[in-house]
Amino acid sequence: MDQTNNIQLSIKKYVIGLLVLTICCSSVFASEINIGIAKTIITPKGPIYLTGYANREKPATGVIHDLWAKAIVFQETNGNKTVIVTTDLLGLSHDISTAVAKKVQQKFGIARAQLLLNSSHTHSGPMVWPCLSVIADYSPAEQQIVSNYSNGLVDVIVNLIDSAIHKLSPMEISVGHGQADFAFNRRVPTDKGFVSGVNLKGPIDHDVPVLKITDKSGKVQAVLFGYACHNTTMVGDNYLVNGDYAGFAQIDIEKQYPGCAAMFVMGCAGDQNPSPRGTVLMLFL
Ligand SMILES: [Zn+2]
Repeated sequence: MDQTNNIQLSIKKYVIGLLVLTICCSSVFASEINIGIAKTIITPKGPIYLTGYANREKPATGVIHDLWAKAIVFQETNGNKTVIVTTDLLGLSHDISTAVAKKVQQKFGIARAQLLLNSSHTHSGPMVWPCLSVIADYSPAEQQIVSNYSNGLVDVIVNLIDSAIHKLSPMEISVGHGQADFAFNRRVPTDKGFVSGVNLKGPIDHDVPVLKITDKSGKVQAVLFGYACHNTTMVGDNYLVNGDYAGFAQIDIEKQYPGCAAMFVMGCAGDQNPSPRGTVLMLFL
């Protein structure tokens, strides 16, 4: 529990700035549309290998907080629907996303172009088969656990979208922007090419775009917020399942707006890392 508490305290400082800016940003546009929202827990049941770092040598040893899949469906006046699904995972495999898209087309008549599948890219989430399968040296039994979890995600996501469609009702959308300054460029130019490090002069994007969804009574039903930064404040010595900064940010927003779904949408974060970052031990030195 000590490690869990320490991580939670450490992560707090990353998300506070993000949250304040997210909640305070003002609306610059609002319109009414039918919207449905649903969420479901996707925390693995039992020990499973985490992914994102190649130095992990054993499955996860615990859970800090639940991982979630969340869906929001926008229905235009002509009936056309657009779906955004967010998941507290490193990513979805091509097989999973293709299978989900096929079922969504068959069951709901929603085209692939109208379906956005976005993962927070937490490096403290379960391995999703076969993404990055080469980084783990695990037994056939452990691989089977990963495969079973991954295969189950297809129906979980399709059922989630089904639930969101059944909740379609008139809502209002507001759009705003905030800023958070903990992302930095991790591509450092050298005589021998780019290497991974800290490039304070490199391109960055500190924008936090926000969609706020409110119902007829003015109650906040969903907050979609994005950021372009690798979701990796914790590194490879962490063996506790959690959504990293994006997961903690969602939890805090949902505390501030009880009953709402906070959905994190990862931006173009390939060359951006959070700062500071490190092991739990380093954070307390
Ligand atoms: Zn990564």
